[in-house]
Parts: sequence; C-alpha cells; structure tokens
Amino acid sequence: MARVIRCECGYVARGDDDEAVVDTIREHMRTDHRELYDSVDRADLYSWIQVE
Ligand SMILES: [Zn+2]
Repeated sequence: MARVIRCECGYVARGDDDEAVVDTIREHMRTDHRELYDSVDRADLYSWIQVE
C-alpha cells in the first residue's frame, strides 16, 4: 500500500511508508512553498497522509 500526500498545487508525493512520503512532501515544500515549509511541522504532515 502506497502512502500519498496531495499538495494544494496539484503535486502528489508518494512513498512506500509514512516516513518516505513525509520526506518527499517536505522536500517539495522546501523548494516550492517556502512559507508552508516554515509553518507546517512534521506532525501536521502525518495527518495529511492518504493510503492508496
Ligand atoms: Zn505544492
């Protein structure tokens, strides 16, 4: 089962486990959404995970 986080811009981060998908979306936010990266912590990102 893949883990997915959908960004508000349409980007979709995928990973094999929670850690991987959170790392992927963090990297996307760091490059594309600097303000979100600074204001959203990892605990919030875990609540955004969907299982596909
Ligand atoms: Zn985005």
